[in-house]
Amino acid sequence: MRKSPAVRSENVVTRQHSAFKRLIGWTALLLGGWLIMAPSAVAQSLESLKDDSPWLSAEGPFPSSFDFRPSGSALPGEPAKFSTGSLTVYFVDVGQGDAQYIELPGGRNALIDGGPPNGKLAEFLARRGVTKIDHLVMTHPHLDHFGGLPSVFDSLQVGNFYDTMMDNAGTADDLVRAKAAAEPGIAISYPRPGDSLDWGQDVKVKVFSSCPDKQSAERARDVNACSIVLKLTHANASILFTGDAGESVEGRLVAEYGDELSADVLKVGHHGSATSSTSALLEKVRPRLAYIEVGAGNSYGHPRQTTLDRLLAAGAEIHRTDLEGTFTLTDHRPAPYTETGASAEKVAVGAGETAR
Ligand SMILES: [Zn+2]
Ligand SMILES: [Zn+2]
Repeated sequence: MRKSPAVRSENVVTRQHSAFKRLIGWTALLLGGWLIMAPSAVAQSLESLKDDSPWLSAEGPFPSSFDFRPSGSALPGEPAKFSTGSLTVYFVDVGQGDAQYIELPGGRNALIDGGPPNGKLAEFLARRGVTKIDHLVMTHPHLDHFGGLPSVFDSLQVGNFYDTMMDNAGTADDLVRAKAAAEPGIAISYPRPGDSLDWGQDVKVKVFSSCPDKQSAERARDVNACSIVLKLTHANASILFTGDAGESVEGRLVAEYGDELSADVLKVGHHGSATSSTSALLEKVRPRLAYIEVGAGNSYGHPRQTTLDRLLAAGAEIHRTDLEGTFTLTDHRPAPYTETGASAEKVAVGAGETAR
């Protein structure tokens, strides 16, 4: 359920008065009086305080790199493009398929998968005024993950493309790879398990699984098993992105990495299918939030009730794009995506963009 922003603000002011004082104190302390928060920014910060977020109570002291900097705000002299120091992940509602758009600290961005070829991702990116993707990951060559990528290459500038060495013959994955190869100035890589990806100094990205070498014919049958699995860590909180990895991969990950798989947020594997999100994996990941990207009424029966039960038993709060639409995670707090916010920000984004 969405609450009216006006009602939320009123409640916040009364109930969060002391929190407001602390906020001012922290802001001054952290930024040495350098940043003077605009009234609207303060209001947004207050609103963010109201959310009874598991992150606040469980994480202890706030990581200083993203304290209460509202998404879309900017430091003096900087274009109001992305929230500097913040991390926002959008689990984009692309119907039956996966696409996660990430605003990284410092204004760079990343995109993991492009959803099916239905134009939904392109529309989302256009509404946000996105003109370039710094880091593009194609987890594996299935249409519900790469179908939207040709249009990304056609309309946006892509800096880095991370691919897995799996040819899904007979699909349009060749087209995506041809477009990647033709992109001016692009760096194409096939990350290996254990690799770290350089997505900026404020985040850590570790690859847990992929197919960095050409697959044999037998292995080629399981395209999902070649999914690039990676963990993004920012300010002591982490998100595990699993593509469509299934139980065979999960078993290997648990054996190889164990507790290193621990993550606050899980992008649930394979749209919540029964053969992903095994109890063994969930015991190691122990996610507090689980995001399932899935199309309403899809023919695969995703997500499976057994999977939902396992996630709930693991203590995860579940969010699904088929029920809630695009869902976001801003500075580690879950929130529904509002078009109002996007439109308002788009104006500022557009103004900042023209200078680049
Ligand atoms: Zn797949
Ligand atoms: Zn899929």
